[in-house]
Amino acid sequence: MSRFWSATTHRLEPYVPGEQPRIAGLIKLNTNESPFEPSPAVRDAIAAAAAESLRLYPDPAATALREALAAHHGVRSDEVFVGNGSDEVLAHTFAALLRHERPLLFPDVTYSFYPVYCGLFGIAHETVPLDEGLRIRVDDYRREAGAVILANPNAPTGIALDRKSIAALLAAQPDVPVVIDEAYVDFGGETAIPLVADHPNLLVVRTMSKSRALAGLRVGYAIGDRALIEGLTRVKDSFNSYPLGRPAQAGAIASIADDEAFRRGVATILANRERMRRGLDERGFEVLPSAANFVFARHPAWPGAALAAALRERAVLVRHFAKPRIADFLRITVGSGEEVARLLSELDAILRA
Ligand code: PMP
Repeated sequence: MSRFWSATTHRLEPYVPGEQPRIAGLIKLNTNESPFEPSPAVRDAIAAAAAESLRLYPDPAATALREALAAHHGVRSDEVFVGNGSDEVLAHTFAALLRHERPLLFPDVTYSFYPVYCGLFGIAHETVPLDEGLRIRVDDYRREAGAVILANPNAPTGIALDRKSIAALLAAQPDVPVVIDEAYVDFGGETAIPLVADHPNLLVVRTMSKSRALAGLRVGYAIGDRALIEGLTRVKDSFNSYPLGRPAQAGAIASIADDEAFRRGVATILANRERMRRGLDERGFEVLPSAANFVFARHPAWPGAALAAALRERAVLVRHFAKPRIADFLRITVGSGEEVARLLSELDAILRA
């Protein structure tokens, strides 16, 4: 607190990221990172970019990266926007597209950064309750709105909507921006990117942090009609012309080129998710159906906070949200085979006690 702060700074309620502690032997299942290193081609490309020209500013428009993403997703490069992690892409999206007289709609349980951006940018918003099964009901979004944002799969539930449901939402809201945050879509969701061609109000936001194992590089992007992308670019160029350094642009391009490493990584995580789901189920947990690289689960006999604390004492970090409706759940990232085994054996020790 300081008298030098602006009124806006006083009012902010910042997002709290999952901890990144340095504890030896820690099993880190709290921030949905990949348990695997990215493809060696990515490290080589980053090293080459760093060796070559760190003296010079990067391409402010990240043209080569946007072209690579456009080719990968079958869109045009002027339909692609890139930023410093999808968090930055989302921040620019909130500023550029989501502030209207009518409220922005998003679920009561979703990515907790959305209300934070609303606070930062002064965006009127209303939350729409998930149903009893913690599912998004698209019909509930048929109402007056300035814009809509959904995470699909949703976070922290992991539950996905199919593309038909997103199309129904677009049909219900043809005249306001609709943003679909697909941070976790590669783990079993259905992308809305094919709907971009016919929907000038649809923006799909993606990240390379999860399925491409590049959380440390900070690369996110958005795909949408070129007028939406132009709006994002106007905001970006009013904020920071060079959000992605040369190593980040080079590493991201190399990741897209190595589809084999990407597919292998995702397939392993899906197999481990199934082992984790089964293991939790056998131990009495209720596990929501996950299309993400994490599961959302609760134990009938253990409050979420107590179980998270007990796991932490055993050097297993998971994420707990002390929030209405979900306080008994834990969000557990799908780790490597050994990490899943450690999680389950530590749970056995805790539940036995
Ligand atoms: N969207 C969702 C739903 C997320 O869970 C996350 C990760 N915290 C992000 C976006 C941001 O990811 P990043 O900034 O690493 O791209």
